[in-house]
Amino acid sequence: MRIDKLLSNIGYGSRKEVKKILKNGNVTVNGDIVKDAKFHVNPNVDTVFLFGEQVYYREFIYLMMNKPAGVISATEDERDKTVIDLLNDEEVIFNPFPVGRLDKDTEGLLILTNDGKLAHQLLSPKKNVPKTYFAVINSPVTEEDVEAFANGVTLDDGYETKPGKLKIIKAGSYSDIELTITEGKFHQVKRMFEAIGKKVVYLKRISMGPIELDNTLENGKYRELTEVEVQQLK
Ligand code: URA
Repeated sequence: MRIDKLLSNIGYGSRKEVKKILKNGNVTVNGDIVKDAKFHVNPNVDTVFLFGEQVYYREFIYLMMNKPAGVISATEDERDKTVIDLLNDEEVIFNPFPVGRLDKDTEGLLILTNDGKLAHQLLSPKKNVPKTYFAVINSPVTEEDVEAFANGVTLDDGYETKPGKLKIIKAGSYSDIELTITEGKFHQVKRMFEAIGKKVVYLKRISMGPIELDNTLENGKYRELTEVEVQQLK
C-alpha cells in the first residue's frame, strides 16, 4: 500500500498533511528516508519509522462499548447522537461500525469493528450467536413465563421465536430477569415480553457470544477487545 495512505489510515493526518511530513524527511522505510508519497510499503514486512518512532500498522479495530441510553447504534444520523460520536478520532479513522443494533433506550454491550467478515459471522442467523440481556419487567415474572420462553413465543407479527432462556433474578411487582436469545429480530426482547402481556422497562445487553460486557466500563465508555477476546469471537 502507498506510504501516505498507510500513515493517514493510522491517524497521522490527512493525505495532504502526511505528504508534508514525508517531504520534510521525517519518515524512513527499512532505514532509508522516503519522501515520495506514492512509495509502496508492505506493512507486514517493511519497518516504518515516523519522527524516529516505529509505526505499527493494522487493518482492523475491535471495540466493546457500554452503550448508554439516548444514542443510536448507527454510523450517522441527522437528528440523534450516534455511538460513533462517542469515539475518539484515533478510532474513528478506522471507520468502525456497530455489529447489530440496540434500541435507542437500550444500554450495554455493543461491539464495533471495521471487520465486515467478523460482523457478518456474528449477525448471521445461521450461527445462532447467543445474546444475553438483563431487563426489568413491570410485573411479576413466573415459572410459566420461563416455560413459555423455552418453547418460543409468538410475536405481534405472527413470528414464532426460537427458544429463549429466561432466568428470574428477582420476582416482584417489578422483576429483574436475564434472557438469552439466539436471534435478533427488531425489538425482540421487548416484543417477547409483550407476547406474554408484560412490559420491559429497562434493557441492557450483557453478553454477545463469548464476550461479556466489561463491568468496569461506565455508560458511554469503550475499550479495545483483547487479543484473546478477538480470537474467541472468530
Ligand atoms: N431487544 C430489544 O427489544 N431491544 C434491543 O435493543 C435489543 C434486543
